[in-house]
Amino acid sequence: MAEPETDSSMESQVDVLSCVQPTAQLHIGNYFGAVANWVALQDQYRCAYGIVDLHAMTMPYEAEDLRRNSRAMFADLMACGIDPERSDLFVQSLVPEHTELYWILGSLCAYGDLSRMTQFKDKSALIGERGGKFVSAGLFTYPVLQAADILVYRSKFVPVGKDQEQHLELTRGLAHRFNERFGTVFHLPKPLFTETPKVMSLADPTKKMSKSLGEKHYVGLFEEEASLRAKVKTAVTDSGGPPQGMEVSPGVGNLLEILKASGRGDAAQMLEEYKAGTLKYSLLKGSVADTLVELTSGLRERRREILESADLDRAVVDLSARARTHAIATMERVRPAVGIPME
Ligand code: AMP
Repeated sequence: MAEPETDSSMESQVDVLSCVQPTAQLHIGNYFGAVANWVALQDQYRCAYGIVDLHAMTMPYEAEDLRRNSRAMFADLMACGIDPERSDLFVQSLVPEHTELYWILGSLCAYGDLSRMTQFKDKSALIGERGGKFVSAGLFTYPVLQAADILVYRSKFVPVGKDQEQHLELTRGLAHRFNERFGTVFHLPKPLFTETPKVMSLADPTKKMSKSLGEKHYVGLFEEEASLRAKVKTAVTDSGGPPQGMEVSPGVGNLLEILKASGRGDAAQMLEEYKAGTLKYSLLKGSVADTLVELTSGLRERRREILESADLDRAVVDLSARARTHAIATMERVRPAVGIPME
């Protein structure tokens, strides 16, 4: 697919776009696997980060939780180091151009393409497993809204994990189809593959850390010291070395990975000790717990200050309005191209 030339009217757009759903609380897997990377990307790119509250409506939810979680996620991302001086930070529903472009792209998207999306199959199955019966059309068309999230900022790169590759391919296909039919407006966004660790559950290290597994499986990013230490202390390790054919057992490997990702503690040295059969697991766990306490207590303090600040609600509105200027600029090109009037 041909890349459009970058012309001067594209200058106001962003390089990197990434979004997160407003969930109740980030865990250390989200931090090491996504948010820490977003923070680092700010040094290299013009970034825009979105809290996608409209996507959260595609699964069963409570309105009050959604409102509270979106606001809290804004504070969480700022506490983690997303810097509004350098990056755009917005709440999706405060930028209505997302849904406008979603509709236009929906008319260019084949039903058959959406029915092949594996995430739809997984999520609709999950609703069934939880005893629900209602699967919304919103869940089905979710990837089109995701395409609009990316294209409305005419972003060039999207940091993706393997699970999102299929959706980005759909986005590129829609951008290409739009450009072919109506004239070039969009960059075809490229995946930005960055090395990020996959953090596993503490209680079952064969599974990816996730809140849905239950309380003892994850460490919240803003978790209090006592419960954090208790969870690390009871983390699954192994008794007497790795299973056959493995260099390191899943539990010990996960703790070493957390230590490495945090940039504190000496994971390489501990791995050597493990291989030599001299590593004391109490020392490994102590080091992981100390590291995480140091990280989380700093983040918790910053989060508390932001949440208590009288300026937070204003910042959510103002920063979203600032991000919206990019989206408006895109729609000023899209609307006439597709044959709908401008105000
Ligand atoms: P989710 O809320 O599960 O969609 O996750 C938000 C972001 O955090 C995504 O970029 C995920 O890839 C990342 N993430 C979630 N869980 C983990 C984990 N256990 N290890 C690494 N990254 C994760």
